[in-house]
Amino acid sequence: MPTSKQQASNKAAEQGRTTAFATRLIHAGGTTDPVTGAVNVPIYQTSTYQQDGVGQDRGWEYSRTGNPTRAALERLIADLEGGVAGFAFGSGMAAITAVLSLLSSGDEVIIPTNVYGGTYRVLNQVFDRFGLTFRVVDTTDPANVEEAIGPHTAATLVESPANPLMTVTDLAEVSRIAHEHGLLSIVDNTFMTPYLQRPLELGADVVVHSATKYLGGHSDVVAGLAVVASQELADRLAFVQNATGGVLGPFDSFLLIRGIKTLGVRMDRHLRNAGIIARALQQNEAVAKVYYPGLPDFPGYEVNRRQASGAGAMLSFELAPGYDAHAFLASTRLVALAESLGGVESLVCHPATMTHAAIPKEERDRVGITDGLIRLSVGIEDADDILADIDQAIAAAKEA
Ligand code: PLP
Repeated sequence: MPTSKQQASNKAAEQGRTTAFATRLIHAGGTTDPVTGAVNVPIYQTSTYQQDGVGQDRGWEYSRTGNPTRAALERLIADLEGGVAGFAFGSGMAAITAVLSLLSSGDEVIIPTNVYGGTYRVLNQVFDRFGLTFRVVDTTDPANVEEAIGPHTAATLVESPANPLMTVTDLAEVSRIAHEHGLLSIVDNTFMTPYLQRPLELGADVVVHSATKYLGGHSDVVAGLAVVASQELADRLAFVQNATGGVLGPFDSFLLIRGIKTLGVRMDRHLRNAGIIARALQQNEAVAKVYYPGLPDFPGYEVNRRQASGAGAMLSFELAPGYDAHAFLASTRLVALAESLGGVESLVCHPATMTHAAIPKEERDRVGITDGLIRLSVGIEDADDILADIDQAIAAAKEA
């Protein structure tokens, strides 16, 4: 039986929204086990639950519908994003797919020019076959969103900053426009996390995450999360989650809860390192252009400052003429060439052939995802070590 102290502690956690964010990262969702008092939620590695009699379950029936470890994570992310309910999925794409499944054949979704390649692909090659269409819009100017809305537009799905050019979209303004036209406002908050940016507070209806990234934080779990702002959306998404079944397993749910506990300290260090590296790249003559919303001369700097408490730790850059991007990518030693981002280790990637390969080349060229673009996920190693590795790779990239 839980002691009154444990009950009080879980109650405090449930009421966590009144406490500071750093505290909620660790205690929200009520993860203390009511049975044993274990301070970490147990991994309920079970597919089903014994019932006391026909129609008499103890609140759990089958783990696709609900699992206590996953439920703790879902309460945690709902609290952190300030939503009514959270939902955990087997990947970010599964979360996005479930959210898009709220829409119907004949509907149209507005997406940004820099949208994550996988989101583009699922719309272009899967949902398109079921009659859900999309329109690519430069959402950095919200007026373009308003202009693009047609009779069948049902939702906006934006990212800010967006991958890989770090373009910033005014989330409050896009949500306002969406609501004025009766659209659902969906925001992919993967790059910022609720530690830096909370789209529901800015007016969005749904937030999605590739929790594979900063929320997990250690490059050891693939997961997705969604949080909704109303009970009506919560009921509909719970139905879709159970009906389509792309749920996150108990062990991965546990890993995510564990990762989220250190999100604040990790993000502080990510931000510090990213600022140091962005400024160093900007001053390096071998670098032609740096894309980072934390640089005051970056186009989205002011909007990002208004809607987020940091610029994140993703940046992209182009080498100056006379330097070969492929040679750079072949030469880093500490910084691994890899897909993904948001882990404690720094990673580098080539968007044109990796993360954004699903977007046709003409479309990539049109929006500026050039073959020379290099994307860096700045980790939490010592900043001088990351910089030293970048510098030696730049030296190796100099054409003879
Ligand atoms: N959204 C963004 C912004 C991403 O960067 C990614 C993955 O890189 C996804 C969604 C998809 O998430 P996952 O790889 O967990 O399916």
